[in-house]
Amino acid sequence: MPVADKISGFIAKSSWIRKMFEEGEKLRAEFGADKVYDFTLGNPDVEPPQPFRDEFQKLAKAPVPGMHRYMNNAGYLETRNAVARMLSAASDLPVQGSQVVMTCGAGGALNVVLKTILNPGDEVIILTPYFVEYRFYIDNHGGVPVEVWTDRDTFQLDIAAIGAAINEKTRAIIICSPNNPTGVIYPAESLAALGALVAGKEKELGRQICVISDEPYARISYEGKGVPNIFRYVANSVIVTSHSKDLALPGERIGYLAANPRMKDVEQFMEGAVFSNRVLGFVNAPALMQRLVAGLQHVSVDINAYQEKRDLLYESLTKLGFKMVKPDGAFYFFPKSPLADDIEFVKLAQKHRILLVPGAGFGAPGYFRIAYCVDKGMIERSLPAWAELAREAGL
Ligand code: PLP
Repeated sequence: MPVADKISGFIAKSSWIRKMFEEGEKLRAEFGADKVYDFTLGNPDVEPPQPFRDEFQKLAKAPVPGMHRYMNNAGYLETRNAVARMLSAASDLPVQGSQVVMTCGAGGALNVVLKTILNPGDEVIILTPYFVEYRFYIDNHGGVPVEVWTDRDTFQLDIAAIGAAINEKTRAIIICSPNNPTGVIYPAESLAALGALVAGKEKELGRQICVISDEPYARISYEGKGVPNIFRYVANSVIVTSHSKDLALPGERIGYLAANPRMKDVEQFMEGAVFSNRVLGFVNAPALMQRLVAGLQHVSVDINAYQEKRDLLYESLTKLGFKMVKPDGAFYFFPKSPLADDIEFVKLAQKHRILLVPGAGFGAPGYFRIAYCVDKGMIERSLPAWAELAREAGL
């Protein structure tokens, strides 16, 4: 057998999105693409914004000599400085370019941070429902994931539950706001409570505990709500993010990690992060993308278009009887499954050619996820099928 036992076990457990994709292909072949309503993937349907295209054309017309060569493993200083300026303004702290490493997406940044900080057997707290890759990324670096539920009605942080899970093996806590899969944003008061909890536990246990803030959706928030900056509230924190969602560039693999200037021994952490970026084989983030995003730190895709889709689906589905938290950001809903078994519900949805991901895929059976980064026309066409599904599910 060419595959390690662990990997075949992981593949079997993590194949929800792939299974749904394959199911979708079958349905599309049978009924035609416009009759299948695929809400499974967090792959933005929009094109990158015009300023990105302008930068791309400028660079293509006037290439910079050496622009395709290797560089410092941390990335171009010009880009890192641009990120640092944006984060300084958001946090009111003097973030330096030297505290930023450009990475291959947020996924790359998460792996770099975990490799940098984990000793074998160290525990990393993840908050249910969670982005499923966290479990695998933690395992990549010899860590042990520890699942702690958020509040089951609001999906907000349960500070007492997080506190109860912290022990002498805890090395990190991963948070995600705006959240995939729930769309909730953690308010400043929650982040302040988390900061106080972590600082107290660090003192009590005599070890550093890093809050890793995974925030690729940070620029996708609705009604001007905005996302509080973690650096203000948690001293020992790292931001991991990308331009996969805000500039709609997921295939280009461009992101970064940034350390809080208030982190203890921050220079040592950065040295570790630059080394890890190199030896994980990333070497450096894509050169062309680094140049293009440097000047786009305040640019994003049209958030209003996502908000319109959120409002349309929220109003239509709650009218049909689906129960869900109205998300303040990202582009997901995480409603309660009308059937006790979310996998049965997702199979029932397939009969109506609606493709969804069961909550089990996020460690949260009893729910399901809708990704609405899809064509608005598809949402409109899907509404009669949702009505039939609701009826059949007993709503
Ligand atoms: N973190 C979360 C919560 C995500 O939803 C995603 C992608 O969907 C990632 C990380 C990975 O992002 P990237 O494509 O930039 O690696």
